[in-house]
Parts: sequence; structure tokens; C-alpha cells
Amino acid sequence: MANEAPERKTLEQRQQMSELERLRHSAAHVLATAILQIWPEAQFAAGPPVETGFYYDLDLPHRITPEDFPRIEEEMKKVIKANQLFEKVVVSREEALALGRAGRLSALSDRPEPSRFKLDIIESIPEGEEISLFKNGDFIDLCAGPHVMRTRNIGAFRLTHVASAYYKGDERNPQLQRVYGTAFKNKTELEAYFTMLEEAKKRDHRKLGRDLGLFAFDDDVGPGLPLWLPRGTTLIEELEKLAKETEFAAGYERVRTPHLARENLYLTSGHLPYYADSMFPPMLLPDERNQSLQQQERARLREIAPEGRLGHLEDAQIDTLLSEFEKMVSERPHDRYYLKAMNCPHHHKIFAAQPRSYRELPLRLAEYGTCYRYEQSGELFGLMRVRSMQMNDAHIYCTEEQFEAEFNAVNEMYLKYFRIFGIEKYLMRFSTHDPARLGEKYVNEPALWLKTEAMVRSVLERSGINYVEVPNEGAFYGPKIDVQVWSAIGREFTIATNQVDFAVPPRFGLTYRDRDNTEKTPLCIHRAPLGTHERFIGFLIEHYAGNFPLWLAPVQVRVLPIGTEEPLVEYARAIQAELRGHGVRAEIDASSDKINGKVLRAEQEKVHTMWVVGHRDLEAGAVSVRLHGKGNQGARPRAEAVAALLEAIRERSA
Ligand SMILES: [Zn+2]
Ligand SMILES: [Zn+2]
Repeated sequence: MANEAPERKTLEQRQQMSELERLRHSAAHVLATAILQIWPEAQFAAGPPVETGFYYDLDLPHRITPEDFPRIEEEMKKVIKANQLFEKVVVSREEALALGRAGRLSALSDRPEPSRFKLDIIESIPEGEEISLFKNGDFIDLCAGPHVMRTRNIGAFRLTHVASAYYKGDERNPQLQRVYGTAFKNKTELEAYFTMLEEAKKRDHRKLGRDLGLFAFDDDVGPGLPLWLPRGTTLIEELEKLAKETEFAAGYERVRTPHLARENLYLTSGHLPYYADSMFPPMLLPDERNQSLQQQERARLREIAPEGRLGHLEDAQIDTLLSEFEKMVSERPHDRYYLKAMNCPHHHKIFAAQPRSYRELPLRLAEYGTCYRYEQSGELFGLMRVRSMQMNDAHIYCTEEQFEAEFNAVNEMYLKYFRIFGIEKYLMRFSTHDPARLGEKYVNEPALWLKTEAMVRSVLERSGINYVEVPNEGAFYGPKIDVQVWSAIGREFTIATNQVDFAVPPRFGLTYRDRDNTEKTPLCIHRAPLGTHERFIGFLIEHYAGNFPLWLAPVQVRVLPIGTEEPLVEYARAIQAELRGHGVRAEIDASSDKINGKVLRAEQEKVHTMWVVGHRDLEAGAVSVRLHGKGNQGARPRAEAVAALLEAIRERSA
């Protein structure tokens, strides 16, 4: 949901706040202090840290614009320089309410107007929970913390932009001004952050995707539905080749499933009704299970549209016909079909399609499955948020004894991919359950939760994988791992999720016959290391700045003859044909342009390797190798150049 209210943080979540989050949240207090120096009447709502910094929501007759930033930042600097202590004061509910009524919360002094948002927030604090204030200088805020020790711990900050937001994210509430900023431990980090943003802008996957002819969107096709152009399709096919090879070697089996299914499947999986908001609305089809009704319908159709007459009807008659037809459609019982939002239910049905024995486990079913999700149009963003996506999906059905080895193998696969793509920084966020919310937020299987969480934890520990544990963020049906990776310029992406699922297999009645001849329920691991093509390629475009490695590059080699003389062009064509015979994506630029022009064009198109051939190369049976962005690499005998190229592609080394 676009405007979801920020949920009040639990005590546990507060304790988990990182040093940087504390610093940024503290900067929000300093922002409010500064704004009040200029506009003492400002009314403040919430001021949390966010991924990129912090914000504070406020109500103020003056519309704050970036022109006001230097003034506000000047005041903020004074507060930081004063090195004020963030001092915590625990108060009773009555004391807090009294201060709020006196306008003293989120304020520098008493004021004629009450601190109305803070009064409302006090109301929402559960009875019995501690209510605390935080003071820095004259500024008092209602806040549970935590903060840094002193204002000078905020090493460097900058205000970035202003947006508007409804109080508590609810459009029935007043609209507030949201002032955003960011803060870091020191100036170097702050500057590195803005440099990174600049670089990210240049590497924007939407811009490069257009410039390099990778993908397109079209209004007639619909928002969020990418069209993959030939060069983008090359990226997709290379990724699939990598995934298929890797999965085959790891004992996966490939399956294929339809893009849609009857409502009943999603009722069983629980996607309906819980996930209905994210699914495309159903397609209504005549109920094929009700033969007699169908016959009645056909009879009615014959009545209103006798054969051959349809073409001679007046517009008005057609309208009548259509409205009658619509009425009929709405009256009859329907079979509802949904586009699939996830592949899991289909794979579960494949597991169930045959009787299974313990000998078949672990059963690893893989599919680059296409899914459709009805993302809000405001949430759509290039390839990163789309409505149709192709997922590097697989489901591993295994016994409890097999779980650890399987889970470990999945992690190994991630590490292999990270090496191939040169991903140096990554983090696995391991989300667990909260025992207090069993049966409500989490499926009520206390023993299974503890057991699977312990297994996951031990695999993560032993493999030395970089991970953090996040309490109370597991999926409904089991612990989950979100994989975050950082691009070459240090921007963070969440590309994949792994989940352990012990709740859905029983819902689908999945069983296998065990050694002792009893029917048992398997565990299921959902995994998608390469995420979706859309998001992963969006990430790769930024990561490589569009300069894809040889094995992935849409154009791997372009042969550039120097001149248009027949023997030279013949030679270039022979090289191209040889390369294509080896499956290399090779092109030739046989235009009459000067060689400098050909090179320039190839560089602009980010062609990975250029083989320039002139008369000397022709006579020597050689090629002059040039690499995109790296310049001339010298001449090489043709056979040697071809062999080295094939080797590099096979190894995915360059
Ligand atoms: Zn605070
Ligand atoms: Zn799944």
C-alpha cells in the first residue's frame, strides 16, 4: 500500500536500531529544534530514521521549500556545535498530557496552541508502556528513543527535499510537510553518499535500458509490463542458461506451469484472500463444471444472435445484444481464474501429481516462472517494480533430516553467483518469528519454528555467511531470508528471498511414503537466488554501468574492417561467420565509415570486444583486439583470439 501508516516501533525494534539510525533519528530532533527557532508555531508529528536518512513531518502555514534549507541548516549547525546532551526523562501519562496541552511537546517553550499530534500519539501509547521525553537544549520531544549521546555525534548532515504526507498515512487526516535529510558519522561519508547518488543517476537502469535498447514500456501494453527487446532478451537468456546449468549440476529438475489457475488453488495456498490486493482481479469464465447451465446459455445465445445475422445489425441492436449478453454473463455461475502471483501453488500440485516416496526426496523443482502482481501504479518503477516478472524460482521438498544440507547448498549457490557477478558486499537478513504472536501473525507451530530457525541459524553460522537476525519479521509460514546486495557503486538492492515453509505442505496435503511405510509431510524451501529477471537485470545494469561482461554482453564481438575493399570485408565476414558458428554474438560493421567512426559507435553502444581488421591483419591471418573502455590490446593470430574468446565466455570470467 502506498501510504501505509508507519507502525509504531516495538521496544525490541528500537533496541535493534543501528548506530547510523540513532544518529539520523537524532538529526530529526535537531531539524525540529532548528525549524522552531525560525517558526515557533510549527506542529510536529513523526520523525523516524529511514533508509536514506531521516524526515520529520510537520504542520506549518509557511510552505517550506529548498530555498529555506540554508537557513534551517544554519540553525541545525548551531545546535550541533552547542553539543547538547540528549537527555531522557520518564513521565507519567498525566504529565505528558499536561505538557502536550501547554504546547510544550516538540517545542522550545510553552505555546498558545496545544501540541496536537503529540497529544494524539500519547493516546495511542498502550496503557502500562513507559512514556518518555527527550530533551536537547530547550527542545523537548515526546520520544522513546534511542538517540546518540550528544548533538555533536551527528558528524555531517544535509537536508535533501520536501514532500507532503498525510498524518499517519491516512488521507482522511491533515496533509503535512515532510522535510527529508540525511546524516552520517562524518563529512567524508556524507560526500561519498552524494557522489554515489550522482553516479547512480548516470547508471539509472531506465536511462541505460533505453539507450542500449534492452527493454521498453508501451501504454497500450500497460504500465509495469516490460517488453524485452532483442538485446535485453539476450541478457535474460544468458541468465537462464547460467541458472539452468547451475541448477542441473545441483540436482534440480525443471518443470513448467501455466500462468493462471482456478481460484480454488489460491484458496488452498492462502494467497486468497490474504494476498488478493496484490493479485490481478479474476477472469470470469463460464463454469465448465455445470453442463446443463451451459446448454441453456447456448440456447439463449442462439435466440439473441441467429447465425449470419450479426453483421446486418444496426448499432442500437448490437448495443441491446451486448447488454443482454452482459446481463446473462453476470447472472450465470462463474468459474474464476487468476493470473499467478507466485509459482509455489503450481509446484505443490506437481509434487502432488504423483505418489511420492522418501527415495525421491529431496525433490527440487525449478522453473523460471512468470508471475503477475497488481502493484499500485504509483509504486511502479522501471524494472524494479513491475506487474509481470520472471522468477528464478524453485521449491525444494525435503525431510527434516535433509533440511540442513539442502539449505546449505542453496547458500553455496548464492555465493557462487556473487563470485560470478563480482558482488563483493552482501547481507542475509534472517527474519524469525515472535512467540507472542503465534497463531496470529505466525502459524501456530511453536516447536517447528524453533527447530527450523535453529537449523537455519546453524547453517548461516557454519558457512561464515554475512548475516543479521531480525526478530518478528518472518513470513507467516516460516522463517525467511532476504538477500541484500550492494552494486559496484555501493547502492543497496534486495534481490532475493529464501523461505522455509512448514505450513503450506500440510494445507496442500503433500505427503511422501517414508521408510516405515507411513505418510509424512515434507518441508519446503522456497528459493530464488537470481530473484526476478526484471529486478536482477535492473541491478546488473547499474552494477556494470551497462558495460556487461563478455559472457553476458548483448553484442560480444563486432568486427570492424578498415575500409570497404572486397577481400577485407570477405575476411571480416568469415570471422563473423566462424564466431557465430561457435555461438558467439558477433556483428560486423561493413559501413563505409572511417574506422574511427566505427570504433566510436561501437564504444557508444558498449560493444564488449572489437576486432579491427586491416590489410596487415588479413595478410597475417590476425585480428587487432580492442576492448570497450580499455582501448587497443594489440594484434593476435585469429585462431588464438577465437580460442581465448571462447574460453573467456565459457568461464564467464570477463
Ligand atoms: Zn527521538
Ligand atoms: Zn515459493
